Amino acid sequence: MSVLFTNAAVLTMDGSREPLKNAFVAVERHKITYVGAERPEGVFDRVVDCSGKVMMPGFVNAHTHLPMTLMRGYGGGHDLQTWLYDYIFPAEAKLDPRAVAAGTDLGLAEMIATGVTCVADMYMHTGVIADRIVKAGLSANLSCGGVYFGAAEEFSPDKCNDCRNQQELTDSWHNYGGGQIRVDASIHGEYTSNAPLWRWMSDYAQKHGLRMHAHISETVSEHQASISRHGRTPVQVLGDHGAWENGGIAAHCVYTTPEDWEIMKDKSVTCVHNPWSNLKLGSGIAPVPAMLKAGVNVALGSDGMSSHNSADLFSDMKLAAALHCGAGRDPMAMGAWDALEMATVRGARALGRTDTGVIAPGYVADLILVDFTAPNLMPCHDPAENLVFSAHGSNVVMNMARGQVIYENGEFFTIDLARVRSEVEGYALPLLFG
Ligand SMILES: [Zn+2]
Repeated sequence: MSVLFTNAAVLTMDGSREPLKNAFVAVERHKITYVGAERPEGVFDRVVDCSGKVMMPGFVNAHTHLPMTLMRGYGGGHDLQTWLYDYIFPAEAKLDPRAVAAGTDLGLAEMIATGVTCVADMYMHTGVIADRIVKAGLSANLSCGGVYFGAAEEFSPDKCNDCRNQQELTDSWHNYGGGQIRVDASIHGEYTSNAPLWRWMSDYAQKHGLRMHAHISETVSEHQASISRHGRTPVQVLGDHGAWENGGIAAHCVYTTPEDWEIMKDKSVTCVHNPWSNLKLGSGIAPVPAMLKAGVNVALGSDGMSSHNSADLFSDMKLAAALHCGAGRDPMAMGAWDALEMATVRGARALGRTDTGVIAPGYVADLILVDFTAPNLMPCHDPAENLVFSAHGSNVVMNMARGQVIYENGEFFTIDLARVRSEVEGYALPLLFG
């Protein structure tokens, strides 16, 4: 399949910060083959007139838990501990593969309709998630969120469920579909495991060339408890055990320190900022402008729908940009382009993917069209300002992932929404909450 986009206003996110006007963008199979002012030679299967629309790279949602979409709005209004132990954990304990598939599809449908083309997900039943993502057509880095609650001296990889889960996931899915699925090693968090698992997971990552995905310093109590236990912050103590040797994702980083940022910069560890989740759970505000200034890569994530309630990354871009200007009492602390980069090219870097997040020849054709004739996007003095501060997910009129149009004008081409509704309402919700 080849597609030619004409009359395109394009935010390429290639660093130029200068939108293209009336450009041509050509896609052959799953790659972008041309971006420029002249119509390229050749015959195309489809020509899309982009008049009135803005093209940008699809979003990279760099930290999420797709099946938790089933718990959207459940247990709201409680503190983190009560919410987790009285609501989320008991519901999660009832999950089976069919319910995980239903929750994943529901989360994917919402993300596709709001412009996401690539995710980094951490959750159990990870093979089921991989299968649903391949069917939906997105790209993903997947991890199982390794936990180990046993005594350190009793640790054995043969008896540790998540060591086996990690091995099975890597064997079955790493680099599936020419890199459509990549597997990350994973430590759920410093507070849900101990040193033998960190060492095993780090060695495993190094042996198999995997990156790491971990929750880091999300709450002040988590951060302080690590210092009490080890005399080291979560970034530092996991680093001491080799967790960051291949780089990776540190989700949240609300209480990270300048010493942590040095390690993160040095080891190519990205802070994934989840502003809605951090505010809704009362966790705090990550020092994102200071991290960017220190040279740390910062990307954007929604976190699970149980602690955000929406997968619309437009809302996260707007919140991130406004939050740090307000918190820092500095209107220049974070601008529209910073937020756009965090949601696209910096997200791709977080996942170790150098072939997405930018609209340029040779990159994977992960792109979206946003309807700038919608009342909330008129007038347009600056497309970046409108995308970050005025747009919402429902302004997305096309989602192309890996060169395939998977959503257009409200219609899904890879997800049967009626079936998803039936699976969620008829099977998954009764199983978890019935
Ligand atoms: Zn999370």
